[in-house]
Amino acid sequence: MNHASPRTISIFGATGSVGTSTLDLVRLERDKYRILALTANSNAEELAKLAIEFDAEIAVIADSNQYEALKNLLTGTKTEVAAGPERLVDAAALGADWTMAAIVGCAGLPPTLAALKCGKTVALANKEALVSAGALMMAQARAAGATLLPVDSEHNAIFQSLQGGRVDQVRKITLTASGGPFRTWSREQMASVTPEQAVAHPNWDMGAKISVDSATMMNKGLELIEAHHLFPVGLENIDILVHPQSVIHSMVEYKDRSTLAQLGSPDMRIPIASALAWPERMTTDCLPLDLAKITRLDFETPDHDRFPAIKLSRDAIEAGGAVPAILNAANEIAVAAFLKEDVQFLEITEIVSRIIDSYSPPVPNDLVDIFGIDREVRERTATMIEDVRV
Ligand code: NAD
Ligand code: MG
Repeated sequence: MNHASPRTISIFGATGSVGTSTLDLVRLERDKYRILALTANSNAEELAKLAIEFDAEIAVIADSNQYEALKNLLTGTKTEVAAGPERLVDAAALGADWTMAAIVGCAGLPPTLAALKCGKTVALANKEALVSAGALMMAQARAAGATLLPVDSEHNAIFQSLQGGRVDQVRKITLTASGGPFRTWSREQMASVTPEQAVAHPNWDMGAKISVDSATMMNKGLELIEAHHLFPVGLENIDILVHPQSVIHSMVEYKDRSTLAQLGSPDMRIPIASALAWPERMTTDCLPLDLAKITRLDFETPDHDRFPAIKLSRDAIEAGGAVPAILNAANEIAVAAFLKEDVQFLEITEIVSRIIDSYSPPVPNDLVDIFGIDREVRERTATMIEDVRV
C-alpha cells in the first residue's frame, strides 16, 4: 500500500473515547492524512473544535437541532456542515480510504454499511452494529471487497494473531475478559451498585455504555457475537477466559497446539494504531509492556451465575435470526435506563433476557427489517422498564 500521498480518513463518533484516541494518533503523523469527515451525536462545540484543528472537509452532527450551532461555530472555515442521520450515511458514502466506525450503538450501523459499500478500509469499533446485523455487514464487506479491520482490543488481538496462520487451521480462539469492576463481587453486593461504580473500569478508560457492559459482562457477550462473525471458526471453538490484568488481549490456538497471542498495555490507542497503519506499523507514545513490573498474570473461568450475560449472548447466536439484534437493542435501552438510575444494575441483564423471551419476530433480511426490530425492541424495553418502576 502506498502511504506516500495523504490518505483520506473519516472518523464516525470523533468526539467519543475511541474517536479522540484515533485523532491522538493522527496528530502523531499529521502529514500522512487528509481528514474527510468527522461526526458527533450532539456536541457541536467539541465537533467544531476538532473540525478546525484537523481541517475537516465535512462535519456532521447527528442531532439536527445542533445544526445552527455547528454552522455558526464553523463560519469562516472551509468545513462543510451537515446534520441528521441521513447525512451521516452520505458522509460515509464519500468513501474515505480509511474509515473509523466508532459511533456507539446500533445508530452506527447505516454509516458503517455505507462505508463498507465503498470497498475501502473500515476500522470497526462499533460492536453493536456487528451484533445486530453481523450477517448483513459481513456480506456487504465481501460484496464490495472492503477490508474490515477489528478495533475492539480482543478482536484486534485475534486479527493480529491470525497473521501467523489461517482461520481453517484454528482449533480455538480465546477471548480474554478483565471481569470488570465487580469481578469478585457477590450478586448481593452488585444489587445496589451505582452508575459511578459501574462506569469506573479497573483497567480501561472508555465511554459510559461500554463501561456498564463491561461491568455486567454483556460486553464479553457482545464480543462473542462479534468474534463469531469476524472469525468463522464455529461458536463452540470460541472460549472466554477472565484475565484481570488485561495484558493478553486474546489468543488463537492452532491445530498443532501453537498458541499465538497479542499483548500490550491496556490502552486503546495500541489496537487503533495497528488498524490505522495496517499493514504497516506506526510509532506510538503508548506505554511499553513491562512484564517484570506486572510480575504475574492471572486467569479464571467466567462465573455464569454471577454474570449471566455471556450465556445469554451465546444462546442468542445459537438461536440466530433476530435474537442478537433483540439482545443488543434491549441492552442499549436497559443500560441507558441504568445510567439514569431508572433500573438497578442486576435488572439490566434480566430485562434483556425477558425481552428476548417475549418477542420472536421473523428472521430479518435487510436493514429495514433490522431497524424495524430495533425500534420495536426499544419501545418494548422502555415500556417494560416503566412497568417495573410503577
Ligand atoms: P463514546 O460514548 O465515548 O463515544 C461515542 C461516539 O458516538 C461519540 O462521538 C458520540 O457523539 C457518537 N454517538 C453517540 N450516539 C450517536 C448517535 N445516535 N448517532 C450518531 N453518533 C452518535 O463511546 P466509545 O467508548 O468511544 O465507544 C464507541 C464504540 O466503540 C462502541 O461501540 C464501543 O463498544 C466500541 N469500543 C470502545 C472501546 C473503548 O475503549 N472506548 C473499546 C472497544 C470497543
Ligand atoms: Mg473489547
